[in-house]
Amino acid sequence: MPNYRNASLWFDTLNEDIQPRPPLDGIKNADVVIIGAGYTGLWTAYYLKCIAPDLSVTILEAQTTGFGASGRNGGWLKGSIAGEDKYLARLPAEQKSTGYRLLHGIVDHVHEIMNREGIHCGFHKGGVIFAAARYPEQLQSQRRHLKQLYQAGHTEEDYRWLDAGELTQQVRMHKPYGAIFSPHCAVINPAQLVRGLGMAVERKGVAIYEESPVLEIHPRSVVTAHGEVRAQIIVPALEGYSSTVRDYGKYILPVQSLIIATEPLSSAQWDEVGLQNRPAFSDSGRLITYGQRSADDRLIFGARGAYQFGARPRSEFSLKDPEFRIRERLMTDLFPALQGVQVTHGWGGSMGMSRRFAPHALFDARSGIALAGGYGGGGVGASNLFGRTLADLILERDTELTQMPWVMKGVAPKRALQKWEPEPIPWLTYKAVLAAYSWEEALNRASEAPGPRKALAGFISNTLSALLR
Ligand SMILES: Cc1cc2nc3c(=O)[nH]c(=O)nc-3n(C[C@H](O)[C@H](O)[C@H](O)COP(=O)(O)OP(=O)(O)OC[C@H]3O[C@@H](n4cnc5c(N)ncnc54)[C@H](O)[C@@H]3O)c2cc1C
Repeated sequence: MPNYRNASLWFDTLNEDIQPRPPLDGIKNADVVIIGAGYTGLWTAYYLKCIAPDLSVTILEAQTTGFGASGRNGGWLKGSIAGEDKYLARLPAEQKSTGYRLLHGIVDHVHEIMNREGIHCGFHKGGVIFAAARYPEQLQSQRRHLKQLYQAGHTEEDYRWLDAGELTQQVRMHKPYGAIFSPHCAVINPAQLVRGLGMAVERKGVAIYEESPVLEIHPRSVVTAHGEVRAQIIVPALEGYSSTVRDYGKYILPVQSLIIATEPLSSAQWDEVGLQNRPAFSDSGRLITYGQRSADDRLIFGARGAYQFGARPRSEFSLKDPEFRIRERLMTDLFPALQGVQVTHGWGGSMGMSRRFAPHALFDARSGIALAGGYGGGGVGASNLFGRTLADLILERDTELTQMPWVMKGVAPKRALQKWEPEPIPWLTYKAVLAAYSWEEALNRASEAPGPRKALAGFISNTLSALLR
C-alpha cells in the first residue's frame, strides 16, 4: 500500500488512520457509477443522494479518497470559475445576475454543508487578495482588469481596489503596489474537506471502492482489474487523470502545480507577514504565486506550473527535489521576513485544463455519460457547483443550475468538447509560454524602469495569452 501521508501536508497531518476502503471484487449493479473520489465525484454523489435517496450510487477510486488534486490543492474555496465573464457576457441581465449569484454563493453554500455534515476543515472566510501587483506594469494591468470586472457586471461589493497602504495592512509583501480584493473566498484544509465528504456520502448509502482503478469504460459498464460495475449512468470524475481511461484524455490536459509549507510560525513571525484575517493571496505574475495562512499557522505557498510531455499526470513529489528550492526562493522574495524558516513539506498535483480554459458540465442521456471538469486551478469551489449541476442533469431536473451557459445537454463528449492538439504541440506551447513569461518576469525583477525590452516581453506574453484563449 502506498504511504498516502506523502501526498501532501494536508494528508500528512490528517488526524485519522488512512486505511483505504476495500477494492471492488466481482460484478455489481448500480444506477450511477462514478469514477474518481475527488470533490467532483463526491459532490455529485452527495447531491444525487440528497435529491433521490433510493438511487444506488457506487464510486470507484484508483487510490484513496482525495488522492488527486482534491487532497493536495492550495485550499482556496472560491466563488468563481475560470472563464465566467466570457460565459455570462452574452446572457440577458437577469440570467447573468443568476449566474453571478450562483457563483458567489458557492462559498456559503459549501460552508452550510460542512456544518450540516460535521466536516471540520478549518474553513475561514477572509476573502482573497487577488493578483497583488509587484511591478509598475502589473499595477496598470490589474487596474485594467478591475475595470473589466465591473464592465462584466461585478460590483464593488465583489471586487475592490486595495492601494499599497491598504494591501500592506493585510499582507506585508515585498514592494507592494496594490491589489484586487474579493470577499468571495474562504481558505480550508482541502484533505479534511474531501475525506469528510467521503464519509458524508457513505452515510447516505453510497458504496466507495478504493484502490480500484477503472481500466475501461464500456457502454453502461466500467471495468477494473477484479470487477465490473454495470450502471445506466457513468460519471467519469477524473479531471487531471482523464488520460487514465481511453478517449477522455483528449479533452483534459493535466498540468501540475507545486506547493511548499513552512513549519508553524510564531505570532512574532506572523506580525512580519500579516495575513491576520487569513485572506487567500496571490500575486499578479503570469507564472502564478498563491497561498494561504493555514489554520495551524503555517504559510502555504504555491508557485509555478509544470507540464509533462504526453500529458501524463504526476502524483509523486519529494521535498528534496530541486524544483522546491525555486519555490523557497520565491517565497522569501515575496516575504523576506521568512528567510531561514523551515520548510517542512513540498508536494504537487495534477489539475485539469480544458481546451477552452473554462469548465463544463454535460449529460448525454443516450450514452448515459455525465461529465464535469476543466476547472484549472479553480476546482475547489467549482466542483461543488458542477456536482450539484450534474445531479440535476442526471435526475432530469430543469433548474437554474442546468440553465447556465457552461452546461451542455444531450450532447456526447466528442461533440461537445474541444480536443487538445496532439503532442508535441501542447509541450512546445507550454515551453514557449514558460520562456516568454519567465523573460518578462526577469526583466520586471531587474528594473522598474520602462524600456523597449520590457515592452517587447509584455507584448509577446500578452499575445501568447490572447492566442491561448
Ligand atoms: C497543487 C494544486 C493546487 C490547487 N489549488 C487550488 C486552489 O487553491 N483552489 C482551487 O479552487 N483549486 C485548486 N486546485 C484545483 C483543484 O484542486 C481541482 O480542480 C479539484 O480538486 C478537482 O477535483 P476532481 O474531483 O475533479 O479531481 P481530483 O481531485 O483529481 O480527483 C480525481 C480522482 O480520480 C482518481 N483516479 C485517477 N485515475 C482513476 C481511474 N482510472 N479510476 C478510478 N479513479 C481514478 C484519482 O486518484 C483522484 O482521486 C489545485 C490543484 C493542484 C494540483
